[in-house]
Amino acid sequence: MTQKPRVYIAYTGGTVGMKKGSQGYAPDAGYLGQLLTQMPEFHAPEIPDFELHEYRPLLDSADMAPQNWAVIGEDIEARYDEFDGFVVIHGTDTMAYTASALSFLLENLGKPVILTGSQIPLAEVRSDARDNLLTSLILAGTSTIPEVCLYFDTRLLRGNRTRKISAGGLDAFSSANYPELGSAGVRLRIHWRTVRPRPEAAFQVQDIGNPHIGAVRLFPGITAETLANFLRDPLRGLVLEAYGAGNGPTSNPHFLRVLAEANDRGVVIVACTQCLEGAVRLDTYATGRGLAEAGVISGYDMTAEAALTKLYYLFGKGLSPEEVKIHMQRDLRGELTAPTDDDSSGEVPIGDAPSGDATSDATAGSCSPR
Ligand code: ASP
Repeated sequence: MTQKPRVYIAYTGGTVGMKKGSQGYAPDAGYLGQLLTQMPEFHAPEIPDFELHEYRPLLDSADMAPQNWAVIGEDIEARYDEFDGFVVIHGTDTMAYTASALSFLLENLGKPVILTGSQIPLAEVRSDARDNLLTSLILAGTSTIPEVCLYFDTRLLRGNRTRKISAGGLDAFSSANYPELGSAGVRLRIHWRTVRPRPEAAFQVQDIGNPHIGAVRLFPGITAETLANFLRDPLRGLVLEAYGAGNGPTSNPHFLRVLAEANDRGVVIVACTQCLEGAVRLDTYATGRGLAEAGVISGYDMTAEAALTKLYYLFGKGLSPEEVKIHMQRDLRGELTAPTDDDSSGEVPIGDAPSGDATSDATAGSCSPR
């Protein structure tokens, strides 16, 4: 008899295993493990063998911090050689941040790491947790995708391209600037053309350290004083969520001066767009150029979640502000589509759409990259 694939489940918390109490839904220690033992589908022949590791305490993901990302990374590192793939069960609220952070911290990843969760607890009749968990287990055990992914509502997405877009819908995540890596219909399909190649170097996990990073969303009426407060020491990096293709209130010289002074002090300021789709190129409009002249760099089509966690990662590596600026504008893990020289439209091409030729079924034995 051939051996089943083995999957390690890092259960960090979230709605999946929550119980309703007097204060509303909250994680309950031991409860998810009990449910999984009682549900026969989780022990079906096509489901990989899994080991569930429950974190203490279980967290609502609103309580997650960078130190929690580091713990998940260390956990995966410790069990890396024993398992074919990893599932991280996580609350949906900050899942896109954790998926982005792990994509950077897990250097030279050669196995699938799939974050999933649910909008309705597993114990409830209409729960979306059942498919999200079962399909994530199959994908983690058999797909061989060497990436941090997020699986939710039949779609497999690159983790660092995702954003939570719905508080109530079961289709809670978008990947507006990059095509899905796979999908679960009648068959499980992997679109290999969209998947990153397997790295050759050895897997390792980067420590995140404790750099001070922040994010500010521009709004009409934001003052230079408000911005200056954000940029105070010891801040090292800021994601500036700008309008459209990277615009801000640059007719205000005081505002620009605050940015330029922070830049001179070594604060790395990266502009991402508030739009769900598209890219920042600070050379598109005069208002964007003003930001660039103050030292702000383009985040291109990175999500704010990816830009923020990338700043943590790069400063955590001990890089200088100049080095951080260079790497922020380069693609490290598929999080950013590098602009081409002839592309001055503000739109960054997103690469090839998946094609039938490069798509294969994610069942054991038929799902390796071609
Ligand atoms: N508040 C929950 C969390 O993020 C929501 C969820 O899991 O869907 O942990």
